Amino acid sequence: MKIGIPRSLLYYYYYPFWQTLFKELGMELILSEANSGDLLNQGAKEAVPEICVPMKVYVGQVLNLLEKGVELIYIPRFVSIRKGITFCPKFLGLPDMLMNSLSGLDGKILTHEIRSRTDDISAYRNYALFRELFQVSKSKLSRALKAARRDWLEFRKLQQEGYKTEKLLQGEKEKRAEGSLKIGVLAYVYNLYDRYINMDFLERLEEKGVKLVSFEMLDEDLINKFIAKLRKPFFWEFTNKLMAAGHYFINSAEIDGIIHLTAFACGPDAILGPFLDLEAQGKNKPFMTLRIDEQTGESHFLTRIEAFVDLLSLKKRSDQT
Ligand code: SF4
Repeated sequence: MKIGIPRSLLYYYYYPFWQTLFKELGMELILSEANSGDLLNQGAKEAVPEICVPMKVYVGQVLNLLEKGVELIYIPRFVSIRKGITFCPKFLGLPDMLMNSLSGLDGKILTHEIRSRTDDISAYRNYALFRELFQVSKSKLSRALKAARRDWLEFRKLQQEGYKTEKLLQGEKEKRAEGSLKIGVLAYVYNLYDRYINMDFLERLEEKGVKLVSFEMLDEDLINKFIAKLRKPFFWEFTNKLMAAGHYFINSAEIDGIIHLTAFACGPDAILGPFLDLEAQGKNKPFMTLRIDEQTGESHFLTRIEAFVDLLSLKKRSDQT
């Protein structure tokens, strides 16, 4: 059976898990094409207009998989991976939003709820429906989940050791280069690793001698301990992860500045961004917000990155003299 996976949203966090799981179950995996102007335009045309850009990207990716003739498209409903915290509402309603806005999806969506206490999503109960659907035994499904967990944990370990996520997702290993400046990036993985939507943000900074650090590269214990201590955490899982990373970046002497890379129409970021910006101001840590949408002009984007890097270089030099 051909199963399609949209190359968007949590593909950038859980693909190694899904890749092994479906392979072990004997399925053929088809990935949608890398994001492009055409795919994004198609997604924006078909999606509900008020939705955020990453969701428009996702719609374009689903349409691409339909064109590729897959039998099922895997769209899990991420509910929670931490006690008392859920995902952003757009994740919660994702399968319904697609079902109700796109034609041609009848009987083609493979969905189920993901509920877990940690980022490890391998609990058998989440996948019990796969047994009947794929006609596999309980032990085969358990073995597949165990193998998927092993490969995902390895992926997470390599991310934390400084290997590039974008390469790991392609099955390659390459370490992120050291740089003369270190910038903490506050960004959801689907904004940080989608080269089209962020106009090669990572490469542009690396070319300028910047080493980037984002939440998934930090020690998970550090993130979890911070979230556990919050008196009033956000309702949304990945927003809390960014909050924890932001707090770490602001207080770390190793981080020269912070960029909040956010998407147009992101409700959670509209609260998170100003909150961290204020905290950064209080600690004299340079902070810049870059907003991406389907119309962001490349030259404006680049000018702002260059100006920020120049400012950080000047500040670093003057701090050292
Ligand atoms: S967190 Fe923001 S960018 Fe991500 S899905 Fe929700 S609204 Fe969209």
